[in-house]
Amino acid sequence: MRVLIVEDEPKLAALLRRGLTEEGYAADVAPTGEDALWMAAATPYDAIVLDIVLPGIDGLEVCRALRDRDVWAPVVMLTARGAVGDRVTGIDAGADDYLTKPFSFAELLARLRALARRGAGEPPSIVEVGSLRLDPAARKVWRREVEVMLSTKEFALLEQLMRRPGQVLSRLDLLEHAWDFAYENRSNVIDVYIRYLREKIDRPFGVTSIETVRGAGYRLRSDGGVA
Ligand code: CA
Repeated sequence: MRVLIVEDEPKLAALLRRGLTEEGYAADVAPTGEDALWMAAATPYDAIVLDIVLPGIDGLEVCRALRDRDVWAPVVMLTARGAVGDRVTGIDAGADDYLTKPFSFAELLARLRALARRGAGEPPSIVEVGSLRLDPAARKVWRREVEVMLSTKEFALLEQLMRRPGQVLSRLDLLEHAWDFAYENRSNVIDVYIRYLREKIDRPFGVTSIETVRGAGYRLRSDGGVA
């Protein structure tokens, strides 16, 4: 198993490399995000340990860029202590797991083993509902062949709806899944974003796909909406 360590602190990088080597892994160190990008393009790593705080492009950007370039090695993101936002954005950026600094080496090994078991190299599959198509990895959405630009929140909301077409999802369901934690926990926030979504994925195409179910929530038509 070959691991890329992306960490700018030389001491920590050396420690991780030595530890992994002792465990029988092959390990390389990239001190910057730029190095990580070319190294990951040149070598098929089985896993990438990626620090979020790097000089130049940060870990989140590196992770997004890797996924954009079709590098699907599992990524363990190293985040600052208690930075919930980091963890959430890390997962959004395409990381598979995260560890909060300071972490024990045993913990990192356990995560790497778990990721190796899970199997790498599989891009998350594209979700299709009627003429709506959503690519979770590239974070892109199309209605018919037209790409629709969505904000992060709109995208998260649509993804939830598209993963359960034909089902009624309550505002709470949508809030919990699309927002990850109590962000803007107001009852009308979902209604507002549903309106934005309709303006982008339905109205310009003369389609109705998101239905309001009175007193219950919202439902994406399982045919993806018809004109
Ligand atoms: Ca760092």
